Amino acid sequence: RAKALGKARYAIFDSGMQLQATRRLKLEADLHQAIERSEFVAYYQPIVSLEERRIRGFEALIRWQHPERGLLPPSEFIPIAEETGLIIPIGQWMIGEACRQLRRWEQATKEARDIEMSINVSSRQFSDPQLIDVIGEVLDQTGVNERHIRLEITESVMMDNAATITATLLQLRALDIQLGIDDFGTGYSSLSYLHHLPIDTLKIDRSFIRDLHQSRGPDHEIVRTIVSLASNLGMACVAEGVELPEQIHQIQELGCSLAQGFYFSRPVCGDIAERLLGAPLDW
Ligand code: C2E
Ligand code: MG
Ligand code: MG
Ligand code: MG
Repeated sequence: RAKALGKARYAIFDSGMQLQATRRLKLEADLHQAIERSEFVAYYQPIVSLEERRIRGFEALIRWQHPERGLLPPSEFIPIAEETGLIIPIGQWMIGEACRQLRRWEQATKEARDIEMSINVSSRQFSDPQLIDVIGEVLDQTGVNERHIRLEITESVMMDNAATITATLLQLRALDIQLGIDDFGTGYSSLSYLHHLPIDTLKIDRSFIRDLHQSRGPDHEIVRTIVSLASNLGMACVAEGVELPEQIHQIQELGCSLAQGFYFSRPVCGDIAERLLGAPLDW
């Protein structure tokens, strides 16, 4: 009986795995088509200055308008895009789209004149030898100010291959592009290495912000340490994932004056983002 059960479980496991493999293949095929059919959409989430009480910039976040499954978040397709290398054309589209959007805002409203656009770049994109040329071309075509563009990379990207990464960072810096580290505190940055890199912003991972309003626990000390590290290295600091007014109070007290999170706005489409720029602040 045990044997029969074992066999049955084995069969279920097997068909489950097959289903997963089929789904994955379908997703991969869909992803190829998505590029040809331009099914990607850029959303934008404001990054606010708590001191100046204004929107300092936006982070561009990709979505996929899937023909059958609706609007998909990046977690549903970025990992496969990364594995298959499709992240390269997708990422190139995103860099272009974010810069074109910034240009449209600049032309549409005076509030957009010195805002920044942050764009996520994954590890595979970052080691793409064409990255610098692609960015240079987008800058030429759109005419956006390179100082208004910030690339966000994660700590793991920097640990991949220190020498190559440093060279790429320096090339981007030479283009006057700004560079930030995303989800800071969750990876394994070598702190001694950090000040050799042309990084100008640390984005504190939202896991450290989540419980800040509850008690004065270790998260306070971690945030305090990241803020002072950033300040000592001459970098700015952004708190990610702010959802509650008490968290704003805490991060300000800890010396962090830039914030991003659902409390201010969820990621929204370009038109709504433009309206946010002109709207009075309700926080
Ligand atoms: P990320 O770069 O750390 O982006 C922040 C994520 O946190 C976004 O999720 C955003 O919607 C979410 N978020 C913002 N505020 C809050 C908040 O207050 N509470 C909570 N719970 N979440 C908040 P999203 O848009 O699903 O993106 C997830 C990740 O996908 C991004 O994390 C980034 O690593 C990646 N990604 C997004 N767009 C792109 C892209 O164009 N290229 C690449 N390579 N990766 C991208
Ligand atoms: Mg990011
Ligand atoms: Mg992040
Ligand atoms: Mg994240």
